[in-house]
Amino acid sequence: MTGEPAIRIDNLVKRYAPAKGAKGTVTEGKLALGGVSFDVPQGSIFGLLGPNGAGKSTLINIMAGLVNKTSGSVEIWGFDIDRHRRNASRSIGIVPQEIVFDPFFTPFEVLENQAGFYGIPAALRRSEALLEAVRLADKRDAYARTLSGGMKRRLLVAKAMVHSPPILVLDEPTAGVDVDLRRQLWELVAELNREGVTVVLTTHYLEEAEELCDRIAIINHGRVIADKPTRELVDMAREKVVEVTVDRELAEAVDQGAFARDFILRSELVEPNRIALTYDRDRVSAGQMLNHVQQLGFTVEDVTTREADLEDVFVQLTGGGA
Ligand code: ADP
Ligand code: MG
Repeated sequence: MTGEPAIRIDNLVKRYAPAKGAKGTVTEGKLALGGVSFDVPQGSIFGLLGPNGAGKSTLINIMAGLVNKTSGSVEIWGFDIDRHRRNASRSIGIVPQEIVFDPFFTPFEVLENQAGFYGIPAALRRSEALLEAVRLADKRDAYARTLSGGMKRRLLVAKAMVHSPPILVLDEPTAGVDVDLRRQLWELVAELNREGVTVVLTTHYLEEAEELCDRIAIINHGRVIADKPTRELVDMAREKVVEVTVDRELAEAVDQGAFARDFILRSELVEPNRIALTYDRDRVSAGQMLNHVQQLGFTVEDVTTREADLEDVFVQLTGGGA
């Protein structure tokens, strides 16, 4: 596995079966993944970022063997999921989006059962060490139903690591989790990664992906619209937009290149006398942008500014057709 990606996804398509509604109506099957390709580098923390409904869980569930793909291929640790399902499964630990436990098992039993499922002999099990790693050693014998949401989440991480897979996948690990627990989970993930585990996590929080991930793929409507080192992506979100309404029409000034300046990343006429100017907030201020408009001889009548956020990054990446 030297040099190979930990996960390779090639032209993956998933169309869910058509749904039959009341009175025999049939709605067309949802195209959840419309040809997705990306590689997860070994040793990375890889973020799969996208809004609700983007197709993140569908992709994870295909890797987990819970959902059948329509076409395309997935290789996990070099094992094709169709041809080498067993080895692929052994190479990956998955923490699902939904928390489900038998409420009457204790954390220790949950891990032992999972080890049994993988056929790991008692002498080689490491339930105690895993409980230690996810800070649940003191809950070893508590009923799962008495654990807090954050503890359950951590127990799921331990459960996913029972068979010591080189890859750990977490589907929305911090959705609905408070700030402290989110921190704890991030630390746990970073720690596992330092020990050599390749981590994939899905999230719809840009901030979370930014903080944790080396590389981020953005997925929207079942398509990858960006796949970049985190730094490059965050630079795109560093953009700021100022919309300026002036006393007369701007078309002529635009045609003459009045807004084609190195400190203006993009300009767009919103109305004949209103223009949206995108700039890098690390390089220029909104005030400097306004000065520029005034120096062109316009009187500024109205100004609004906004930070570029993930939404804007989406819009930029999809050319406005998100
Ligand atoms: P995400 O995890 O990014 O929020 P999902 O993969 O859960 O997105 O969903 C992607 C799309 O597929 C959504 O439009 C969702 O409604 C649809 N979908 C998910 N699961 C099913 C299913 N079992 N049957 C039909 N459509 C589904
Ligand atoms: Mg999901």
